[in-house]
Amino acid sequence: MAENIDLNEFHWLLTIVQSIDVGVVVLNREFSVEVWNSFMENRSGRTPEEVLHKSFFDLFPEVEQEWFRHKVDSVATLGTPAFTIWEQRPYLVRFKNYQPITGQEDFMYQNTTILPLQATNSRIEHICLIIYDVTDVAVNKHQLQSANSQLKHLSRTDRLTGLNNRGYWEEELRREYSRHRRYGSMAALVIFDIDHFKKINDTYGHPAGDKVIQFVAEVVREAIRDTDIAGRYGGEEFVVLLPDVDKVSARLFAERLRQLVEALVVEADGQEIRFTISLGVADLGQTSQDHQQLIEWADRALYQSKHGGRNQVSVHGG
Ligand code: GH3
Ligand code: MG
Ligand code: MG
Repeated sequence: MAENIDLNEFHWLLTIVQSIDVGVVVLNREFSVEVWNSFMENRSGRTPEEVLHKSFFDLFPEVEQEWFRHKVDSVATLGTPAFTIWEQRPYLVRFKNYQPITGQEDFMYQNTTILPLQATNSRIEHICLIIYDVTDVAVNKHQLQSANSQLKHLSRTDRLTGLNNRGYWEEELRREYSRHRRYGSMAALVIFDIDHFKKINDTYGHPAGDKVIQFVAEVVREAIRDTDIAGRYGGEEFVVLLPDVDKVSARLFAERLRQLVEALVVEADGQEIRFTISLGVADLGQTSQDHQQLIEWADRALYQSKHGGRNQVSVHGG
């Protein structure tokens, strides 16, 4: 091939290689640099004179030698190109990212192609690196991922309290219930409702009522363990699923919640609001039909607490 290209064409090719917006580097089998285009010069800040015949590994100590040697060796041996993409390795050589719009990433993401270069004697004594700047792609993908995870979080979360919303909480209960079915694991449920909440709204106003709900959620958040799953079940009704806990321990937890809320003072418009909650507890110690039944049992116990005079804990089945 090369001998068929006349000097004009060779000159053209050189101009093209110099002006394209990708990095072009030719290395010999000892990993010394033999070609260095202007993209490489601009991004590395090193002129061809500075890098020619220097070791690629000395120039870029961040390159993992063993991996890169292996990669290049197989390209040269097999005579086929190899690729690395930014999702596997963010970059081959570390360049600063100068793109102002995508300024939040401080390095350039790269895809790299390693090409075998055949000499006229058909031996492969050189390889060519083609380095693409794919920072835009990477940044877009990261932004999309973070938007997606934010959306996911929002779709699971109750706006007012930041607890799980009812839909997502029920999904979690269903998951826990199938774990119980498969492995016989225990779980308990505490459901509770603010007493005479209507009166709080009527006396102090709806925004004060909202504040009360938020404070109760905060009490719950602080009282639970990492593995417990709390949710806002309805207006002023809350649920806490306690995996691997039976109703004896769940009652203690519920009683603690009751006392914490009883001691709580919420201030709204200079007024002090005190209030209580009624709680119901159930566990999966009894034979159940489905996850819904655990809610029914706990709800029945809650009803008992309301009728027993409120501000108390009742346990389904005693
Ligand atoms: P009980 O002791 O029997 O539970 O009486 P209660 O007044 O608490 O019960 P009820 O269920 O009759 O009243 C609940 C009230 O909660 C009715 C509704 O207007 C109010 N509510 C529901 N969601 C919200 C909310 O997000 N914010 C506020 N401020 N009030 C709410
Ligand atoms: Mg209520
Ligand atoms: Mg209610």
